[in-house]
Amino acid sequence: RLYNEVQDLKGNIRVYCRIRPFLTGQNKKQTTIEYMGENGELVVVNPVKQGKDNHRLFKFNKVFGPEVTQEEVFLDTQPLIRSVLDGYNVCIFAYGQTGSGKTYTMSGPSVSSREDWGVNYRALNDLFQISQNRRNSILYEVGVQMVEIYNEQVRDLLSSDGPQKRYPLFSFYWISVFFDLHTLGIWSTTQPNGLAVPEASMHPVKSTADVLELMNIGLMNRAVGATALNERSSRSHSVLTVHVRGTELKSGAAFRGSLHLVDLAGSERVDRSEATGDRLREAQHINKSLSALGDVIFALAQKSPHVPYRNSKLTQVLQSSLGGQAKTLMFVQLNPDVDSHSETISTLKFAERVS
Ligand code: ADP
Ligand code: MG
Repeated sequence: RLYNEVQDLKGNIRVYCRIRPFLTGQNKKQTTIEYMGENGELVVVNPVKQGKDNHRLFKFNKVFGPEVTQEEVFLDTQPLIRSVLDGYNVCIFAYGQTGSGKTYTMSGPSVSSREDWGVNYRALNDLFQISQNRRNSILYEVGVQMVEIYNEQVRDLLSSDGPQKRYPLFSFYWISVFFDLHTLGIWSTTQPNGLAVPEASMHPVKSTADVLELMNIGLMNRAVGATALNERSSRSHSVLTVHVRGTELKSGAAFRGSLHLVDLAGSERVDRSEATGDRLREAQHINKSLSALGDVIFALAQKSPHVPYRNSKLTQVLQSSLGGQAKTLMFVQLNPDVDSHSETISTLKFAERVS
């Protein structure tokens, strides 16, 4: 089935590189991207350095240039996402420095225009559509969780006692959530395929509109949590998890799949001499979790018998969708600006190690 389309991946890990355009209003500056090939080649140039080693070649499963639309990116992601409906666990995440387009790829610049929709809205929309098409043979039930990981702490972005008090504690809404979770079979945490984050609330969804509403609540909660520190969203990882349970109507057989959609914290190096206090602590946590993620994916790509999931909250939360039969897709996000050259190289080195 669909699985075959994505099976020929090395260790089930696929890496796409996406280069954002220069932004309007920004003076057209020099770019560090010299060449983008049809087959996933990328050549990056260091304009300061002369000589033969000022060029570096990288190779990905695909490279998306600045002109590539949200829709085109999604089309290359769709088979992977659809395999969730066949019972697979899938993890898609965006890696790169702040301002490189991670949020643009995962969520989009705005929700109001469908054309702008990033991978997460399109994915959910697609899952609902396909499940409708299969409704004569399979009953699908879908639930979502949304958390933020900040300084190794997991925060539920859809919690009822967050800043957005949407639902009173004993409302019909919660009773129906509880009921639906029992039916979904994802309430119990004792199941092997149970929740990675049992403390985060789970919300049954029946349509794209439900998802849009929940994600707006999540985004608001994220914003409200922001402190006087630098923009919090670039200092934390956000993880949207979609749980799917399918029941074959004929046989009654049930199966599960899950999709993790992750907008990672900015990967930029923080100057140790400048950062102090909270800022330094944040930077250390980000560093630790991103390298833990790199180590896990590296171990999986090497087919190593020991995969170090326990080294960070991030890898613990994502464990069910990394390794085993799970499929992983990493978007490597780049800012084309020449000023970003050294961050670009370190982003590319991270990607090179895991692909
Ligand atoms: P990050 O989440 O990595 O910090 P953003 O997604 O916020 O970066 O992107 C930074 C800026 O660049 C935003 O204004 C965003 O709208 C814009 N941008 C990013 N990628 C693209 C793209 N492919 N096309 C057009 N604008 C983009
Ligand atoms: Mg962002």
